This record gives sequence, structure tokens and C-alpha cells, in this order.
Amino acid sequence: MSKSQMLFEAAQKHIPGGVNSPVRAFKSVGGTPVFFKAAKGAYLTDEDDKQYIDYVGSWGPAILGHAHPEVIKTVQEKAEFGLSFGAPTAIETTMADKICEIIPSIEMVRMVSSGTEATMTAIRLARGYTGRDKIVKFEGCYHGHSDSLLVKAGSGALTLGVPSSPGVPAALASETITLTHNDADEVRRVFAEIGEQVACIIVEPVAGNMNCIPPEEGFLQTLREVCDESGAVLIFDEVMCGFRVGLQGAQGYYGVQPDLTTYGKVIGGGMPVGAFGGKKEIMSHIAPLGPVYQAGTLSGNPIAMAAGLKTLELISAEDFFETLTAKTTKLLIGLQQAADDAGIPFTTNQVGGMFGYFFSEQKNISRFAQVCQGDMERFKKFYHGMLNEGVYLAPSAFEAGFVSIMHSDTDIEQTINAAAKVMKTL
Ligand code: PMP
Repeated sequence: MSKSQMLFEAAQKHIPGGVNSPVRAFKSVGGTPVFFKAAKGAYLTDEDDKQYIDYVGSWGPAILGHAHPEVIKTVQEKAEFGLSFGAPTAIETTMADKICEIIPSIEMVRMVSSGTEATMTAIRLARGYTGRDKIVKFEGCYHGHSDSLLVKAGSGALTLGVPSSPGVPAALASETITLTHNDADEVRRVFAEIGEQVACIIVEPVAGNMNCIPPEEGFLQTLREVCDESGAVLIFDEVMCGFRVGLQGAQGYYGVQPDLTTYGKVIGGGMPVGAFGGKKEIMSHIAPLGPVYQAGTLSGNPIAMAAGLKTLELISAEDFFETLTAKTTKLLIGLQQAADDAGIPFTTNQVGGMFGYFFSEQKNISRFAQVCQGDMERFKKFYHGMLNEGVYLAPSAFEAGFVSIMHSDTDIEQTINAAAKVMKTL
């Protein structure tokens, strides 16, 4: 029995499902989740001392690779001065100034401790600011697990949303409208009818929770237009794509400015951090400046700010994103070639350092329905084949992949060679 198997068994005694976040349990690929004990650069080391090239990167934060020496040094130095004060610290202002400097749409920003907190509060703020209750989101996008967002579509665009988890009140779910992602016409139709009742649209401008799905041409612009026409707040959830597809995230990449933006992952450099920010006019409705309530004991935690700021500094280096993008492209060209050589229907998506791959006959995958039509059995076989070869990919066909700046040409070539071997067995 491997150590991971033993540890997983032990974990299940006192931790529900043996994990502290469900996707870690390998439910969609089957088998035992790998327990890790160390991570450095592009590599993970498991409890049995097997090494893997990592394309999960802690689900996005590890853009500099794991345990980057400068980030670790900053955290260690900062820790000497105390772990938490629950009172203002100078580094929080440095962080806020830095975010506002990088992202033109953000005039004010509040730090929180997770992406879920960021999106939950952005929605409360949009509701408080507009005095409206309805929100619009898209099927296949994930925005954390707050009640208003754990909602799936009813039977038609304008029917009541239904809870996607027990414990979410139906009355609350009924205020969430779930539309088809990347369908600009549907958005226009719905807004023509009920736009004036909508507090906000929340969208992942590059979706990373239904595999990796870029916005179709004009989709984000349409969201901007209907929000301008109706007075709804446009929220870009850049928890995943922020500081990942480019320094200015998706809004910089596609040139569409939201009213509010939410962040997490990269902005914390591996520490538990989230943030929401945007127009001063809206942000000034947040307590203590305004009446919309939000708070956090560990918000703006100095160690987390230090890790995040150092990460932002290092990714601001010239050519950082060109290099990261080139590495990602090299990986995807190689994977495609490996699949083509083995005669396996396969396609990929990429935006900057974020990617997706699909076992599908279709090319140009841009809809959630297309993702669902992928060959899930083949995905599972590929997943376990790659794991066996020492390549750690996201254990679900509905997650994006991430490359770090520490992935060397050799790492990528090794990954492609492993894929070529595994593809032949599918
Ligand atoms: N929004 C998006 C786009 C995400 O990808 C995630 C997490 N994967 C969240 C929100 C929630 O963030 P957290 O897990 O930090 O609560």
C-alpha cells in the first residue's frame, strides 16, 4: 500500500471525504488522491518520494513555481514581526496602491481571505449599490460557494434559478438567473425584458472552471453594453485569470473594463488571499465608508500581503507573460502533436499561462455543452497514465491547467514525451 493510500484512509476518519476541498478527492477520475509533502519550482514530491511535473500550481497561485526563493524569504522575514494584528498595517496600503497601479479599472480595493469571500461581497455590494436583488451568472462558471452562486438554471432563461446544493434556500436561488455562457443574444434578450431588475452580471472573463474557455468575440463587450444600458454592475471574477493571462488579467487582454473585479490565487502568492475592487463610486458603499457590511479578522494579513506583493513584483518583470505564454504554447503544440500521432481526437485552448485540453472530435471549444460532450473515459485513462509517468494534471476534465515560469523546456519536453506514450494506450 502506498503512503498516499494509507494517509487517505487515515484522513477519512475525521475529515469529510478525507479532504478539505472536494475536487482533491479524485472523485471524477477515480483512484486515490496523491498526498504531497513538498513542492519546489515546477515539481511536486509526494509522500512516497515520487516527483511530478506540476500543471495544477495549487489551482493557479504558483505562477512563479512553488516555493520561489524570494517569496519564501519575504514571508520568513515578515513573520518575525508578528503573524496578525487585526489593526491597520502599512503593507495593506502598499498592496492596494499596487493593485490600483496595475489595474486601471480599480480605484479602490478591499482585501479578503479567499475568492469565495471576494465574489460573495462583490455581489452584496452590487445589490446594495443598485437596490436590486436579481443577479445574472453563466452556466459552467464557478464563483466560489456562497449561497447566491450555488445555483443552476431552471428550465428556461427567465425561470427561477434552483439551488445546486442542499442548504441553499430556494427563495435566494430564485434571485439568481443562470444563462448560457458565451451566448450574447440570450443576454440581450433577457436584459431587454428584465434588465432594470438586475443588480449585476458576474462572469469569469476567461472561464477556468469548465476546463479553459475563452470568451467568444464580442461576448464581454455585450455584457458591458447591457450593464451600461440597464444600470447593472458588471463584475469580472478574475480569481483565476487575474494576473495569469497577462499582468492586467482578462480585462487588459480583451480591453473590456468591468465595474468591479474579484481576485484570489496569484494575488496571494500561495497564501490565503482574495480581493475585490473597482469604481470608487461603488466601492464607497462598503463599510465603514458606506452601509454595505463586510469584514474579516485576518483580512489584509501582513504575511499574506508580503507574499502577494512579492509575487506581483516578480510577475511585473518585462517579458514575464510573453515567456509564460510561450511555454504554455509549446506544451499545447506538443500535446496536440502527440494526440495527432496516436490518432486521438483532441483539441486545446489557451489564454496566456492558462490552458485546457479536450478529448473531442470538435475544434474551437467555446461552449459548456461542448465541454460536456468530451470523452470522459479517455480523459480518465489519460489522467492516470500521465500521473503514472510523473505528470500532475488537474484531476477533472472541467478544470483549467496552469504553467509556471519555472517550467523549463526540458520539463515541457518530458511532459510531451509522456503524453506521446500515454496517448498510444488510449
Ligand atoms: N472564482 C473563481 C473564478 C474561482 O476559480 C474560484 C476557485 N477556484 C473561486 C472564485 C473561489 O475561490 P476560493 O476557492 O479561494 O474561495
